[in-house]
Amino acid sequence: MINNLDLSSFKSGIRLSSLFSSVTKVERQGSRLFASCPFHQEKTPSCKIDDEKGFFYCFGCREHGDVFAFLQKTGNLSFPEAVERLASMAGVGVDCRRRGSFSYEPSKAELAECRRQQEAVRQERQVEQKRSWEEAASIAERVWAESISIEGTAHPYLEGKGVDAFVLRRTVEDYEFTSASGGGLDVFAGSLVVPLCDENSKLWSLQFYPPRKKADESKWPRFFMPGGRIKGCFYLLGGESERLLLAEGYATAASVHMATGEQTVVCFSSGNMAAVASALRRKYPACDVFTSATAGAEAAREIIICADADEAGLKAAKATGVKYVYPKFDDGGIERFRSLAGSTTSVQPDARPSDFNDYANVYGFEDLKKCLMKI
Ligand SMILES: [Zn+2]
Repeated sequence: MINNLDLSSFKSGIRLSSLFSSVTKVERQGSRLFASCPFHQEKTPSCKIDDEKGFFYCFGCREHGDVFAFLQKTGNLSFPEAVERLASMAGVGVDCRRRGSFSYEPSKAELAECRRQQEAVRQERQVEQKRSWEEAASIAERVWAESISIEGTAHPYLEGKGVDAFVLRRTVEDYEFTSASGGGLDVFAGSLVVPLCDENSKLWSLQFYPPRKKADESKWPRFFMPGGRIKGCFYLLGGESERLLLAEGYATAASVHMATGEQTVVCFSSGNMAAVASALRRKYPACDVFTSATAGAEAAREIIICADADEAGLKAAKATGVKYVYPKFDDGGIERFRSLAGSTTSVQPDARPSDFNDYANVYGFEDLKKCLMKI
Protein backbone atom coordinates (compact mmCIF):
# COMPACT_ATOMS: atom_id res chain seq x y z
CA MET A 1 0.00 0.00 0.00
CA ILE A 2 1.15 3.48 -0.81
CA ASN A 3 0.77 6.31 1.66
CA ASN A 4 1.22 10.04 1.32
CA LEU A 5 4.86 9.79 2.34
CA ASP A 6 5.74 7.35 -0.46
CA LEU A 7 3.80 9.43 -2.94
CA SER A 8 5.69 12.58 -2.12
CA SER A 9 9.01 10.77 -2.51
CA PHE A 10 8.30 9.67 -6.06
CA LYS A 11 6.45 12.83 -6.93
CA SER A 12 9.73 14.63 -6.40
CA GLY A 13 11.40 12.48 -9.07
CA ILE A 14 9.21 13.92 -11.84
CA ARG A 15 9.41 17.48 -13.08
CA LEU A 16 5.93 18.91 -13.38
CA SER A 17 7.07 21.27 -16.15
CA SER A 18 8.19 18.35 -18.34
CA LEU A 19 4.76 16.78 -17.94
CA PHE A 20 3.21 20.08 -19.04
CA SER A 21 5.66 20.32 -21.98
CA SER A 22 4.32 17.05 -23.33
CA VAL A 23 0.84 18.56 -23.80
CA THR A 24 1.27 22.32 -24.04
CA LYS A 25 3.69 25.21 -24.50
CA VAL A 26 5.76 26.11 -21.43
CA GLU A 27 7.70 29.36 -21.27
CA ARG A 28 9.99 31.05 -18.81
CA GLN A 29 9.04 34.49 -17.50
CA GLY A 30 11.96 35.67 -15.41
CA SER A 31 12.48 33.04 -12.77
CA ARG A 32 9.01 31.59 -13.22
CA LEU A 33 7.52 29.03 -15.56
CA PHE A 34 4.17 29.58 -17.22
CA ALA A 35 2.25 27.17 -19.43
CA SER A 36 -0.60 27.76 -21.82
CA CYS A 37 -3.30 26.25 -19.65
CA PRO A 38 -4.36 22.78 -20.84
CA PHE A 39 -7.63 23.14 -18.92
CA HIS A 40 -9.07 26.25 -20.57
CA GLN A 41 -8.69 28.19 -23.82
CA GLU A 42 -6.26 31.08 -23.60
CA LYS A 43 -3.98 33.24 -25.71
CA THR A 44 -1.31 34.13 -23.16
CA PRO A 45 0.05 31.52 -20.74
CA SER A 46 -1.37 31.98 -17.26
CA CYS A 47 -0.80 28.58 -15.67
CA LYS A 48 2.09 28.91 -13.25
CA ILE A 49 4.27 25.87 -12.62
CA ASP A 50 6.52 25.46 -9.61
CA ASP A 51 8.83 22.50 -10.20
CA GLU A 52 10.41 22.78 -6.81
CA LYS A 53 7.13 22.58 -4.93
CA GLY A 54 5.54 20.33 -7.52
CA PHE A 55 2.48 22.57 -7.92
CA PHE A 56 0.64 24.30 -10.69
CA TYR A 57 -1.94 27.03 -10.48
CA CYS A 58 -3.89 28.58 -13.35
CA PHE A 59 -4.79 32.26 -12.96
CA GLY A 60 -7.32 31.97 -15.74
CA CYS A 61 -9.49 29.07 -14.59
CA ARG A 62 -8.07 28.47 -11.07
CA GLU A 63 -7.30 24.83 -11.85
CA HIS A 64 -4.48 23.73 -9.57
CA GLY A 65 -2.78 20.75 -8.02
CA ASP A 66 0.23 18.48 -8.16
CA VAL A 67 1.53 15.89 -10.65
CA PHE A 68 -1.27 13.49 -9.79
CA ALA A 69 -3.93 16.12 -10.34
CA PHE A 70 -2.27 16.95 -13.66
CA LEU A 71 -2.25 13.31 -14.82
CA GLN A 72 -5.81 12.71 -13.63
CA LYS A 73 -7.16 15.83 -15.35
CA THR A 74 -5.25 15.56 -18.62
CA GLY A 75 -5.57 11.77 -18.93
CA ASN A 76 -9.03 11.45 -17.43
CA LEU A 77 -7.60 8.98 -14.92
CA SER A 78 -8.63 7.93 -11.46
CA PHE A 79 -6.16 8.69 -8.71
CA PRO A 80 -4.75 5.11 -8.54
CA GLU A 81 -4.35 5.10 -12.32
CA ALA A 82 -2.44 8.37 -12.10
CA VAL A 83 -0.18 6.86 -9.46
CA GLU A 84 0.44 3.85 -11.68
CA ARG A 85 1.21 6.09 -14.65
CA LEU A 86 3.67 8.13 -12.65
CA ALA A 87 5.25 5.03 -11.17
CA SER A 88 5.89 3.61 -14.62
CA MET A 89 7.41 6.93 -15.69
CA ALA A 90 9.67 6.80 -12.66
CA GLY A 91 10.50 3.14 -13.34
CA VAL A 92 8.91 1.95 -10.12
CA GLY A 93 6.50 -0.95 -10.05
CA VAL A 94 3.36 -0.29 -8.11
CA ASP A 95 0.63 -2.77 -7.49
CA CYS A 96 -2.57 -0.87 -7.81
CA ARG A 97 -5.00 -3.76 -7.51
CA ARG A 98 -6.09 -2.52 -4.11
CA ARG A 99 -7.38 0.73 -5.52
CA GLY A 100 -9.88 1.30 -2.79
CA SER A 101 -7.09 1.86 -0.33
CA PHE A 102 -5.91 5.07 -1.98
CA SER A 103 -6.88 8.44 -0.81
CA TYR A 104 -5.00 11.60 -1.41
CA GLU A 105 -6.00 15.09 -0.41
CA PRO A 106 -3.61 18.01 -0.66
CA SER A 107 -2.51 18.94 2.85
CA LYS A 108 -3.39 22.26 4.48
CA ALA A 109 0.22 23.30 4.06
CA GLU A 110 0.14 22.52 0.35
CA LEU A 111 -3.06 24.49 -0.14
CA ALA A 112 -1.66 27.39 1.86
CA GLU A 113 1.46 27.30 -0.34
CA CYS A 114 -0.74 27.36 -3.42
CA ARG A 115 -2.56 30.44 -2.14
CA ARG A 116 0.68 32.14 -1.15
CA GLN A 117 2.03 31.68 -4.67
CA GLN A 118 -1.20 32.94 -6.14
CA GLU A 119 -0.94 36.11 -4.05
CA ALA A 120 2.74 36.59 -4.98
CA VAL A 121 1.97 36.38 -8.69
CA ARG A 122 -1.03 38.71 -8.29
CA GLN A 123 1.21 41.31 -6.66
CA GLU A 124 3.85 40.82 -9.32
CA ARG A 125 1.26 41.43 -12.04
CA GLN A 126 0.09 44.58 -10.28
CA VAL A 127 3.63 45.95 -10.28
CA GLU A 128 4.01 45.03 -13.95
CA GLN A 129 0.70 46.71 -14.82
CA LYS A 130 1.68 49.89 -13.02
CA ARG A 131 4.97 49.94 -14.93
CA SER A 132 3.18 49.46 -18.25
CA TRP A 133 0.63 52.20 -17.38
CA GLU A 134 3.40 54.67 -16.47
CA GLU A 135 5.31 53.90 -19.65
CA ALA A 136 2.17 54.45 -21.76
CA ALA A 137 1.45 57.67 -19.83
CA SER A 138 4.82 59.17 -20.75
CA ILE A 139 4.32 58.22 -24.41
CA ALA A 140 0.80 59.71 -24.28
CA GLU A 141 2.21 63.01 -22.98
CA ARG A 142 4.57 63.19 -25.92
CA VAL A 143 2.05 62.25 -28.61
CA TRP A 144 -0.45 64.77 -27.18
CA ALA A 145 2.22 67.52 -27.14
CA GLU A 146 3.17 66.75 -30.75
CA SER A 147 -0.45 66.79 -31.99
CA ILE A 148 -2.28 69.87 -33.18
CA SER A 149 -5.47 71.48 -31.85
CA ILE A 150 -8.58 71.23 -33.99
CA GLU A 151 -11.79 73.17 -33.93
CA GLY A 152 -15.35 72.46 -34.98
CA THR A 153 -15.83 69.30 -37.02
CA ALA A 154 -12.35 69.44 -38.58
CA HIS A 155 -11.88 65.66 -38.72
CA PRO A 156 -13.76 63.15 -40.91
CA TYR A 157 -14.99 61.23 -37.84
CA LEU A 158 -16.46 64.36 -36.22
CA GLU A 159 -17.91 65.46 -39.53
CA GLY A 160 -19.67 62.11 -40.00
CA LYS A 161 -21.05 62.20 -36.44
CA GLY A 162 -22.01 65.87 -36.64
CA VAL A 163 -20.24 66.83 -33.41
CA ASP A 164 -17.56 69.38 -32.51
CA ALA A 165 -14.09 68.80 -31.11
CA PHE A 166 -13.97 69.89 -27.48
CA VAL A 167 -10.27 70.54 -26.87
CA LEU A 168 -9.30 67.51 -28.94
CA ARG A 169 -6.22 67.20 -31.10
CA ARG A 170 -5.16 65.51 -34.30
CA THR A 171 -1.84 63.79 -35.06
CA VAL A 172 -0.05 65.63 -37.89
CA GLU A 173 -0.30 64.23 -41.43
CA ASP A 174 3.25 62.91 -41.64
CA TYR A 175 3.37 61.73 -38.03
CA GLU A 176 5.72 58.90 -37.30
CA PHE A 177 6.23 57.94 -33.72
CA THR A 178 9.40 56.40 -32.34
CA SER A 179 9.76 55.88 -28.61
CA ALA A 180 12.97 56.43 -26.67
CA SER A 181 13.58 52.68 -26.62
CA GLY A 182 13.28 52.57 -30.43
CA GLY A 183 9.95 50.73 -30.36
CA GLY A 184 7.21 52.26 -32.47
CA LEU A 185 3.64 53.13 -31.59
CA ASP A 186 1.41 52.48 -34.54
CA VAL A 187 -0.32 55.86 -34.71
CA PHE A 188 -2.11 56.68 -37.93
CA ALA A 189 -1.20 60.08 -39.26
CA GLY A 190 -4.13 62.47 -39.06
CA SER A 191 -5.88 60.55 -36.25
CA LEU A 192 -8.27 62.28 -33.89
CA VAL A 193 -6.82 62.07 -30.36
CA VAL A 194 -8.99 61.83 -27.21
CA PRO A 195 -7.18 61.94 -23.82
CA LEU A 196 -7.88 59.54 -20.92
CA CYS A 197 -7.30 61.23 -17.55
CA ASP A 198 -7.86 60.32 -13.91
CA GLU A 199 -9.63 62.44 -11.27
CA ASN A 200 -6.39 64.34 -10.60
CA SER A 201 -6.21 65.33 -14.28
CA LYS A 202 -3.18 63.10 -14.88
CA LEU A 203 -3.03 62.06 -18.53
CA TRP A 204 -2.75 58.25 -18.68
CA SER A 205 -3.50 57.22 -22.22
CA LEU A 206 -5.01 58.24 -25.56
CA GLN A 207 -7.72 56.99 -27.85
CA PHE A 208 -7.20 57.37 -31.60
CA TYR A 209 -9.73 57.63 -34.43
CA PRO A 210 -7.95 57.16 -37.78
CA PRO A 211 -8.86 59.66 -40.52
CA ARG A 212 -10.80 57.19 -42.64
CA LYS A 213 -13.05 54.17 -42.41
CA LYS A 214 -12.99 51.23 -44.81
CA ALA A 215 -16.20 50.65 -46.76
CA ASP A 216 -16.75 47.22 -45.14
CA GLU A 217 -16.35 48.48 -41.58
CA SER A 218 -19.66 49.06 -39.84
CA LYS A 219 -18.09 51.08 -37.04
CA TRP A 220 -15.47 53.79 -37.34
CA PRO A 221 -12.16 52.19 -36.26
CA ARG A 222 -10.67 53.33 -32.95
CA PHE A 223 -7.90 52.10 -30.71
CA PHE A 224 -6.26 52.79 -27.38
CA MET A 225 -2.56 53.02 -26.69
CA PRO A 226 -1.21 49.50 -26.11
CA GLY A 227 -0.62 48.77 -22.42
CA GLY A 228 -2.23 52.06 -21.37
CA ARG A 229 -4.60 52.51 -18.46
CA ILE A 230 -8.33 52.71 -19.24
CA LYS A 231 -10.03 51.69 -16.00
CA GLY A 232 -11.42 54.65 -14.10
CA CYS A 233 -10.08 57.10 -16.70
CA PHE A 234 -12.36 59.57 -18.48
CA TYR A 235 -12.49 62.80 -20.47
CA LEU A 236 -14.53 65.83 -19.37
CA LEU A 237 -16.42 68.08 -21.77
CA GLY A 238 -17.37 71.57 -20.58
CA GLY A 239 -17.14 73.31 -17.21
CA GLU A 240 -18.85 72.27 -13.98
CA SER A 241 -22.62 72.22 -14.03
CA GLU A 242 -25.20 71.09 -11.52
CA ARG A 243 -25.61 67.71 -13.17
CA LEU A 244 -22.79 65.51 -14.40
CA LEU A 245 -23.79 63.46 -17.47
CA LEU A 246 -21.90 60.23 -18.28
CA ALA A 247 -21.74 58.71 -21.77
CA GLU A 248 -19.77 55.88 -23.41
CA GLY A 249 -17.97 57.17 -26.49
CA TYR A 250 -16.78 60.62 -27.52
CA ALA A 251 -19.45 61.28 -30.17
CA THR A 252 -22.29 60.41 -27.76
CA ALA A 253 -20.85 62.55 -24.98
CA ALA A 254 -20.27 65.46 -27.38
CA SER A 255 -23.89 65.25 -28.59
CA VAL A 256 -25.18 65.27 -24.99
CA HIS A 257 -22.94 68.23 -24.15
CA MET A 258 -23.94 70.16 -27.27
CA ALA A 259 -27.63 69.62 -26.53
CA THR A 260 -27.57 70.51 -22.82
CA GLY A 261 -24.47 72.66 -22.31
CA GLU A 262 -23.90 70.62 -19.15
CA GLN A 263 -20.65 68.97 -18.12
CA THR A 264 -20.42 65.58 -19.83
CA VAL A 265 -18.01 62.71 -19.28
CA VAL A 266 -16.59 60.34 -21.90
CA CYS A 267 -16.26 56.95 -20.15
CA PHE A 268 -14.90 55.16 -23.30
CA SER A 269 -16.85 51.93 -22.73
CA SER A 270 -19.89 50.67 -20.87
CA GLY A 271 -17.64 48.41 -18.79
CA ASN A 272 -15.74 51.45 -17.50
CA MET A 273 -18.77 53.41 -16.27
CA ALA A 274 -18.84 52.11 -12.71
CA ALA A 275 -15.12 52.82 -12.24
CA VAL A 276 -15.55 56.32 -13.70
CA ALA A 277 -18.53 57.04 -11.42
CA SER A 278 -16.34 56.09 -8.42
CA ALA A 279 -13.49 58.30 -9.64
CA LEU A 280 -15.89 61.23 -10.10
CA ARG A 281 -17.18 60.81 -6.58
CA ARG A 282 -13.58 61.12 -5.38
CA LYS A 283 -13.07 64.21 -7.57
CA TYR A 284 -16.35 65.83 -6.52
CA PRO A 285 -17.09 64.57 -3.01
CA ALA A 286 -20.39 66.44 -3.10
CA CYS A 287 -21.56 64.20 -5.94
CA ASP A 288 -24.64 62.45 -4.76
CA VAL A 289 -25.61 59.68 -7.08
CA PHE A 290 -28.86 59.01 -5.29
CA THR A 291 -29.98 62.66 -5.51
CA SER A 292 -30.88 63.07 -1.82
CA ALA A 293 -29.25 66.09 -0.17
CA THR A 294 -25.73 65.54 1.20
CA ALA A 295 -24.47 66.75 4.53
CA GLY A 296 -21.65 68.70 2.88
CA ALA A 297 -21.72 72.46 2.42
CA GLU A 298 -21.43 72.18 -1.35
CA ALA A 299 -24.51 71.65 -3.43
CA ALA A 300 -24.95 68.05 -4.44
CA ARG A 301 -24.08 67.24 -8.05
CA GLU A 302 -26.27 64.64 -9.55
CA ILE A 303 -24.67 61.98 -11.77
CA ILE A 304 -26.81 60.70 -14.64
CA ILE A 305 -25.76 58.01 -17.10
CA CYS A 306 -26.74 58.63 -20.71
CA ALA A 307 -26.56 54.97 -21.70
CA ASP A 308 -26.42 53.39 -25.14
CA ALA A 309 -29.62 51.46 -25.85
CA ASP A 310 -27.85 48.17 -26.49
CA GLU A 311 -27.54 45.12 -24.27
CA ALA A 312 -24.06 45.92 -22.90
CA GLY A 313 -24.88 49.59 -22.38
CA LEU A 314 -28.09 49.00 -20.43
CA LYS A 315 -26.61 46.18 -18.37
CA ALA A 316 -23.62 48.32 -17.35
CA ALA A 317 -25.83 51.32 -16.55
CA LYS A 318 -28.06 49.22 -14.30
CA ALA A 319 -25.03 47.71 -12.54
CA THR A 320 -23.75 51.12 -11.41
CA GLY A 321 -26.86 51.80 -9.33
CA VAL A 322 -26.81 55.35 -10.74
CA LYS A 323 -29.84 57.01 -12.37
CA TYR A 324 -29.75 56.42 -16.12
CA VAL A 325 -31.53 57.33 -19.31
CA TYR A 326 -31.31 55.81 -22.79
CA PRO A 327 -32.60 56.84 -26.22
CA LYS A 328 -35.79 55.39 -27.67
CA PHE A 329 -36.46 55.35 -31.41
CA ASP A 330 -39.82 54.96 -33.15
CA ASP A 331 -40.15 53.36 -36.61
CA GLY A 332 -39.92 56.74 -38.31
CA GLY A 333 -36.69 57.42 -36.40
CA ILE A 334 -35.15 54.10 -37.45
CA GLU A 335 -36.16 54.79 -41.05
CA ARG A 336 -34.67 58.27 -40.91
CA PHE A 337 -31.46 56.92 -39.34
CA ARG A 338 -31.04 54.47 -42.24
CA SER A 339 -31.74 57.10 -44.86
CA LEU A 340 -28.82 59.06 -43.42
CA ALA A 341 -26.58 56.25 -44.70
CA GLY A 342 -26.40 57.96 -48.07
CA SER A 343 -25.51 61.38 -46.71
CA THR A 344 -22.96 60.57 -44.03
CA THR A 345 -20.10 58.09 -43.86
CA SER A 346 -20.92 56.87 -40.37
CA VAL A 347 -24.19 55.00 -40.94
CA GLN A 348 -24.56 51.58 -42.59
CA PRO A 349 -27.81 50.81 -44.46
CA ASP A 350 -28.94 48.03 -42.07
CA ALA A 351 -27.70 49.68 -38.87
CA ARG A 352 -29.94 50.32 -35.86
CA PRO A 353 -29.73 53.60 -33.99
CA SER A 354 -28.62 53.04 -30.40
CA ASP A 355 -26.99 56.06 -28.75
CA PHE A 356 -27.67 59.76 -28.13
CA ASN A 357 -25.49 60.73 -31.09
CA ASP A 358 -27.83 58.73 -33.31
CA TYR A 359 -30.72 60.43 -31.53
CA ALA A 360 -29.29 63.88 -32.28
CA ASN A 361 -28.79 62.93 -35.94
CA VAL A 362 -32.33 61.58 -36.26
CA TYR A 363 -34.39 64.07 -34.21
CA GLY A 364 -32.06 67.07 -33.88
CA PHE A 365 -30.34 68.70 -30.90
CA GLU A 366 -33.49 70.51 -29.72
CA ASP A 367 -35.35 67.22 -29.25
CA LEU A 368 -32.31 65.66 -27.59
CA LYS A 369 -32.19 68.59 -25.17
CA LYS A 370 -35.89 68.13 -24.29
CA CYS A 371 -35.31 64.42 -23.74
CA LEU A 372 -32.33 65.01 -21.41
CA MET A 373 -33.85 67.91 -19.46
CA LYS A 374 -36.90 65.80 -18.48
CA ILE A 375 -34.91 63.36 -16.36
ZN1 LIG B 1 -6.68 27.45 -16.88
